[in-house]
Amino acid sequence: MMDMQAKPQDQLIFHLTGKCQGDGLASTAGTDLVPALLAPYRDLDALRHDFPLVLAQATDGGEFVRSLSSLIDAMLKDVAPRGIEGERLRRHALQLEREIRSDVAQGARGSLSELWEQAAARLGAREGETLEKVLLHAGGAVSADGEVLACSQQMPASLIRHAWQSARDAKARRFRADLSRLVLRLSDILRAAQSHSQAGRQPASLKAALGGSHKDAFDFDMLSRVVGKGAPRDELPAARRKRLEQTLAVLESQGFFAESDPGQGDGESEFGFVFDNCAAAAQAFRQRLGAVVELVRAISIAELEAKGHYVEAEHDLVFEAFDAQSLTADDLARFPDYLVCIPPDRNDAPENANLLEMLSSGLPVKVLVQTSDLLEEASIGAGHFAFGVRSARLATAAMGLGGMFVLQSSGSNLYALRAQIARGLACRGPALFSVFAGAGPQGSPLAPYLTAAAAMQSRAFPAFSYDAAAGSTWATRFSLENNPNADKDWAIESLAYMDTALQRLSDPCAFTFVDFVFCDPRYARHFALVPRKRWHDAMLPVADWLALGEPDATQHVPYLLAVDGQDVLHRVIVDARLMQAARRCLLLWQRLQEHGGVHESQARPVVDQPAGQAALPAQVPAAAKPAVADAAAQPAAPARSRDEAWIDTARCPSCNECQLVNDRMFGYDERKQAFIKDITAGTYRQLVEAAESCQVAIIHPGQPRNPDEPGLADLLVRAEPFR
Ligand code: SF4
Repeated sequence: MMDMQAKPQDQLIFHLTGKCQGDGLASTAGTDLVPALLAPYRDLDALRHDFPLVLAQATDGGEFVRSLSSLIDAMLKDVAPRGIEGERLRRHALQLEREIRSDVAQGARGSLSELWEQAAARLGAREGETLEKVLLHAGGAVSADGEVLACSQQMPASLIRHAWQSARDAKARRFRADLSRLVLRLSDILRAAQSHSQAGRQPASLKAALGGSHKDAFDFDMLSRVVGKGAPRDELPAARRKRLEQTLAVLESQGFFAESDPGQGDGESEFGFVFDNCAAAAQAFRQRLGAVVELVRAISIAELEAKGHYVEAEHDLVFEAFDAQSLTADDLARFPDYLVCIPPDRNDAPENANLLEMLSSGLPVKVLVQTSDLLEEASIGAGHFAFGVRSARLATAAMGLGGMFVLQSSGSNLYALRAQIARGLACRGPALFSVFAGAGPQGSPLAPYLTAAAAMQSRAFPAFSYDAAAGSTWATRFSLENNPNADKDWAIESLAYMDTALQRLSDPCAFTFVDFVFCDPRYARHFALVPRKRWHDAMLPVADWLALGEPDATQHVPYLLAVDGQDVLHRVIVDARLMQAARRCLLLWQRLQEHGGVHESQARPVVDQPAGQAALPAQVPAAAKPAVADAAAQPAAPARSRDEAWIDTARCPSCNECQLVNDRMFGYDERKQAFIKDITAGTYRQLVEAAESCQVAIIHPGQPRNPDEPGLADLLVRAEPFR
């Protein structure tokens, strides 16, 4: 039995039901409370961090993006005298950096040089013309210029598009160099043949060939009669001449790359490669396939001709039969990749429903998917799916399909992952970038950067990358990137505070999923503020509460530490519904840790397997992997009643989560895809929880079988999106 002395009844009732009763608890709605660990970051503009970013020109192997701070540090290293002498310039440069950061956070747009000038003029107006001159002079020593980006909802698309352009420009340079070499070689062959032929020995041709100041010293009619004797009509056989001319025409008229670097401001290719939806990109790819086949065929013929290796008896037949099936991944890799930046509000649009299918089909496409609201889709929300899967879990589902590059990150971490972005965009196959931009809901007390950082810090949206081409083991392909304390359940920071006796103390404090939800005012109903006089020993920090087994957990009430505008520390208790979501978040994080080799004993069998069998082997057997990709090819599932409980087994990528809920109720078939093994082995609550946990939303809970099961009204509401 619970100790009611230690745990006031109203706190217990709130934890179990989410209802505030009596005057011992207060709502957190409308307060200025933030999680205690975030309090030092409230004035973000005053702190140096990765944002804003500057989109740089990545010519000559330079980086495609720089942080403003890194540019200013590099400039100061170059121009500020060492020691005290340079101190003044350093101080003013940092002042200007803060000014630009604040401008950009308030919506200012432009290039770094423009924003620099404006900020320098303002500081000059405040502190003297000399300062303005010094700062403008220092600005001339900054090593990169380009559009400046704040950490906003628009930033990921601007950044990825810019990085894609840099990758495309590099590819264009290589492609044009190859093409020019082949065009020159074929032209040389034709020119040489012409000069040895009767046509090439006509007076006019000889005169043109000799050129220069000697033109008038020769009698070209006489010369023609002498050298033209015995010259063949055409040195090239007709078939070869035709082949060379046709090949040359195809090479010279290609429309995939412009004649000069797109980044240099002139010349766009005939075809556009940037789309805002999957269907349009897939359609464009299909429509251009014929042109790709024709160009690859021409390049292959030209390569053989250039080396003198074309053998008609052998190659004519090969090139006659050359079609889309003949294209290899190497061939496609020479062409521009298709970039799809899906606007955050179009994730569940029909034109994007084939995303996973498109990625698993190997199309040379790079896709940016942005999740603008992690909690709306979580189980504590209404249940709302994009791409047939929660977009926050999209990257995990794509990774399960194998054969591609996958990067998941919050927007705040994209600069730190710039090398991985470049790698993903340069890879030969498909790539998925799943980003939480961090633009919080209306009324959020946090800047988008902080919201995004909190999502990563709290494990609500951890960063990871998966590169199918990076080696033969799971360990070389998967990286947990720079999540803080990646070997622990939660990120731990030190929380410094003063106690009631004004003694300075410092304690380790976990930043959990619950802290992240607390930043979102829409979910204030899951929290209640407990006055200090009602604190008691049975209250436990959220992370400690989650570490307890169920019987122990019922003896305690979980709380998080929050700080108000006056920096006063408060305890806020949390309801059971949100704690359940936190458990699920932790479970997903632990799955990722296993992929990353954390908790070695669980990961070892995965890490040591060869790549061919390694993509999520514990969860995704080779036979099951294409299941989602091939969903379109599967026979349509028979029509089902809303009241029936069932799993769309053919689409199951074997993530195992349903069996974690109840492995007697759910099992795998011979293809290691989930089905309901025994509906009587569990409760309706477990069916609903499994449906909420399922990465691809294929568990349909139907109607409850037991009308007396507790909490049915609530469970039916939760089940509704899945029925
Ligand atoms: S049905 Fe089960 S195993 Fe299959 S994806 Fe859903 S939760 Fe994972």
